[in-house]
Amino acid sequence: MYDSIVIGAGAAGSVAARRLAEDGKKVLILEKRSHIGGNCYDRPDAFGIYIHEYGPHIFHTNEEDVFRFLSEFTEWNFFGHEVAANVHGRLIPIPFNLNTLYEVYDKEKAEELEEILIREYGEGSRVPIMKLKENSSPKIRAIADFVYENIFLHYTMKQWGQTPEEISAEVTGRVPVLISHDNRYFQDKYQGMPKEGYTAMFQKMLDHPRLTLKLGEDCRKRLSFLPDKVLFDGAEFTGEIIYTGALDELFDCEYGRLPYRSLDFRFEHFNEKSFQGRSVVNYTVSEEFTRITEFKYLTGQQDAEGTTIVKEYPFAYTGAEGEVPYYAILNEENQALYQRYAEKTEPYKNVYLLGRLAEYKYYNIDAIVKKALQLADTIRR
Ligand code: FAD
Ligand code: UDP
Repeated sequence: MYDSIVIGAGAAGSVAARRLAEDGKKVLILEKRSHIGGNCYDRPDAFGIYIHEYGPHIFHTNEEDVFRFLSEFTEWNFFGHEVAANVHGRLIPIPFNLNTLYEVYDKEKAEELEEILIREYGEGSRVPIMKLKENSSPKIRAIADFVYENIFLHYTMKQWGQTPEEISAEVTGRVPVLISHDNRYFQDKYQGMPKEGYTAMFQKMLDHPRLTLKLGEDCRKRLSFLPDKVLFDGAEFTGEIIYTGALDELFDCEYGRLPYRSLDFRFEHFNEKSFQGRSVVNYTVSEEFTRITEFKYLTGQQDAEGTTIVKEYPFAYTGAEGEVPYYAILNEENQALYQRYAEKTEPYKNVYLLGRLAEYKYYNIDAIVKKALQLADTIRR
């Protein structure tokens, strides 16, 4: 009855399913949650304020094909996303950049340091904090120490329960020190939010005559893995199966759970025009939460009467009911465990692993969309 089965209706599953359907395949999508969009899911709360149920999602990309594909399903509210760090009650722009330098040092000192940084790295460059810390110049190392202590150390301890040295350099490298006066969090060509939200965008993507979506369906109830074939509802299924869930769960965590960090999102609504006057403030030296997002500044609802915020409290994922595995913890040991699970899928030539969970990677939305488009192309050939 179906040519292909896609598990998960997040960004990965939705894009892949749409492409397969456009290629003429009849596709079944199984999603265990009661909604589409995966972690990009957004909805109005009880006060009519659009919230992101699983934390703030700002789309950004340099990939023309990704931008073009998504633009078939949405218009955009473009904006240059800016974030401030609350450092002992004072707000400074992050990523740390040349403007931040002038905020934290007096003018003369900042001018001197700006010149040194530009000479050392070149204007416009992006320097990961762990690289900046290795510089042999004491003046540059003093800046690095300041940034490390005030931006990275405590935030990273909260987010990962580990120091910046202990986690993968890829992670802190996402927020490099910018040798420029650009206050934006991302430097990508396209950045903003789908005009009607992510859920509306994915809704449109999944609206295709050859696509069937089943919500509230855990694939593990319908798929089973025999040594050399996959059964769907008890019969062999030879079409492609694209799996976007956590890989350990597909095999009942038989080698132990893949470690993840999770987040507890605590939403609050205020009958006030504004809470913090901007979209995102990172608490880099204090508090138990990492950041506060005030949604109206992301979603274009600035004129709404009230305002809703969310605070993010990180914790170690245990797999308990209701917990969500948000961030893969990238290290060699975990990668090796992931590899063992990946090897279990090797006998099944029609099973493809795609997405942040199934690939155990730290992907942004655009990277997922790109990979999903590529996978659909590979399947077509
Ligand atoms: P998911 O969104 O996790 O989708 C997987 C889907 O599969 C889920 O809906 C799940 O319910 C379903 N599923 C799993 N197992 C099963 C099963 N057994 N049966 C059926 N269904 C199943 N990216 C950005 O580009 N910009 C941002 O600002 C940004 N902010 C983020 C903030 C936070 C707090 C987090 C956690 C991530 C953020 N990301 C951001 C990353 C972004 O969320 C991901 O890149 C993207 O959502 C991944 O899509 P996915 O489809 O791979 O995974
Ligand atoms: N980070 C930090 N302080 C900040 C922002 C980021 O220490 O103010 C570190 C932290 O380790 C975080 C990583 O950089 O996990 C990546 O940050 P990003 O904002 O990309 O995280 P995400 O939005 O994906 O949670």
